[in-house]
Amino acid sequence: MYVVATPLGNLRDISMRAQDILRAVDVIAAEDTRHSQRLLDAYGIRTRLAALHQHNEQRAAEQLVEWLAAGKHVALISDAGTPAVSDPGAKAVARVRLAGYPVVPLPGPCAAVAALSVSGFAEGGFRFVGFLSPKSGARRAALAALVGDRDALVFYEAPHRVVESVADMLLVFGAERQILVAREMTKMHEEIVRMPLGETTAWFAADSNRERGEFVLIVEGAPELEEMGVEVERVLGLLLAELPVKTAARLAADITGAPRNALYARALALKGSA
Ligand code: SAM
Repeated sequence: MYVVATPLGNLRDISMRAQDILRAVDVIAAEDTRHSQRLLDAYGIRTRLAALHQHNEQRAAEQLVEWLAAGKHVALISDAGTPAVSDPGAKAVARVRLAGYPVVPLPGPCAAVAALSVSGFAEGGFRFVGFLSPKSGARRAALAALVGDRDALVFYEAPHRVVESVADMLLVFGAERQILVAREMTKMHEEIVRMPLGETTAWFAADSNRERGEFVLIVEGAPELEEMGVEVERVLGLLLAELPVKTAARLAADITGAPRNALYARALALKGSA
């Protein structure tokens, strides 16, 4: 089974090998067959499509195994980008592997990697978070758990939630942390901007079109410890010896003027290593 990445928007972003494979296999399992038919039509590919989506994935995976057992070659695609990454496909891949058939990647577009490549945040590492919870409480808790992470954080977000999610990021990570907003990549209204989280509210408010389309959000990793300075570390350490993490971070921020979120992250790290 070939797992084939397809374009995020611009149909020209399909590799030549992907075209060859999609043309050569006996059947293509696709998330939305009508959507994928347009891609195949654009390249004159006449291979049969079969539905494999989140509501039938287990059943469809059994069907894939039957086809493979019958000597057929199959490909797996999703609506856009790389299948099985915040998309259906992982269960099918696991099932096909279990049945002993090779699963071959055909690399190509992936929204997360495309956004990372223009962020300038991912020199070190990055953490792929994907979609956050639609519920604010759970979302904030998930973000709070990431506050001290030194890696760039990569999120997928739906247009009707992007403003509230970014507002929660501002709340949890603080106004100084940088964010990259990558909207509608490779499409007509592509817009990619990097700014401090503190500027995001005004940015979205300035033009309602900025809430439209598909989004990848990348938040830069927590600041380096050295950037905080020795004195800040000393104050934080003293307070932390006597007080809970949150209070110690708040007071240390008030005393030193260093960013509260960075201190909170550092305090968590210190507590964790104690
Ligand atoms: N598996 C796909 C991948 O990794 O590229 C992503 C599938 S996921 C269901 C869809 C999400 O990917 C969108 O909600 C958005 O966060 C992101 N995305 C997809 N296409 C995009 C684009 N053209 N511009 C920005 N984000 C995009």
